[in-house]
Amino acid sequence: MAVLKRRPDAVPWAGGTLIQTSSDDRNAGRQVSVLDLGGIPELTTVNRSDRYLELGACVTLATILGLPKNLALEPLREAAGLIGTATVRNLATLGGNIAARDSFMTCFSALACMDAAIELRDAGGARWLGIHTLIDGDNKPQFPAATLLTRIRIPTAPWDATALHRLGQVHRGECYASTFAATARFEKETISELRLVAAGRHLVRDRSLELTLIGKRLPLSAREIESAQATAHERARENGFDDRTAVHFGQYVAAFLASVQEESR
Ligand SMILES: Cc1cc2nc3c(=O)[nH]c(=O)nc-3n(C[C@H](O)[C@H](O)[C@H](O)COP(=O)(O)OP(=O)(O)OC[C@H]3O[C@@H](n4cnc5c(N)ncnc54)[C@H](O)[C@@H]3O)c2cc1C
Repeated sequence: MAVLKRRPDAVPWAGGTLIQTSSDDRNAGRQVSVLDLGGIPELTTVNRSDRYLELGACVTLATILGLPKNLALEPLREAAGLIGTATVRNLATLGGNIAARDSFMTCFSALACMDAAIELRDAGGARWLGIHTLIDGDNKPQFPAATLLTRIRIPTAPWDATALHRLGQVHRGECYASTFAATARFEKETISELRLVAAGRHLVRDRSLELTLIGKRLPLSAREIESAQATAHERARENGFDDRTAVHFGQYVAAFLASVQEESR
């Protein structure tokens, strides 16, 4: 933090796997100072309580994949498994995935569906915030300047259904494909909790669509699923997704809602 106070423009370097593979327009052609986060033991700790899993920002994706299988970590585990190769995942950190400046990376949609909280630290001290505070008013990423992400806290109450998929191909202006993530809980054959998220250059989460479906008795009717698909498609279009990706989002929402009926039995 002392270094960051002196050099607020220094670029935090965790695994370096995104910094080295994305073309960051803001720093194009400019020399930047790098703040190496490697070797800070506090940033690599994994702590578990009855209700939460707390991961240091520099915990690698490989470490996440190696956590006990009985921990309710879907859809994050699936997201981590989709990224790069085993060599990349040994270097790539969860913090670097969340703190990406230009796009919401693969783990972000999963964590948004899991109600994750993040600890940010700057010259003024440390504070815990919901992960949604990293989304600006235009649904794009906003990571505060001269700030470090230090810990990620994930509630471990199990979900009854989860999903995570890539939303089609990589499109213009993107480094990696957008992601669809979903989580749901059921109570007495009704949907009691639901999160449906698409994330890439923008993040789409339509709370009014979720609220329409929460409280509905399962199985949902074909009409309810079709209407949810159309709304999700529309919302993704409005939020800057190209039509092909928006169509995929609608289809994944429909597929998740259809599969939810099986899971709830
Ligand atoms: C072959 C290959 C395939 C890949 N496929 C995917 C993919 O499918 N999906 C995907 O999401 N990513 C992919 N990546 C990119 C990358 O591996 C991941 O996004 C990774 O999680 C980034 O973590 P990192 O530690 O390497 O981040 P870094 O590259 O070190 O940093 C990424 C950004 O976060 C900032 N940052 C890092 N840590 C902190 C912190 N603690 N506090 C504040 N800011 C911080 C950095 O300044 C930088 O802006 C791929 C990379 C490669 C090489």
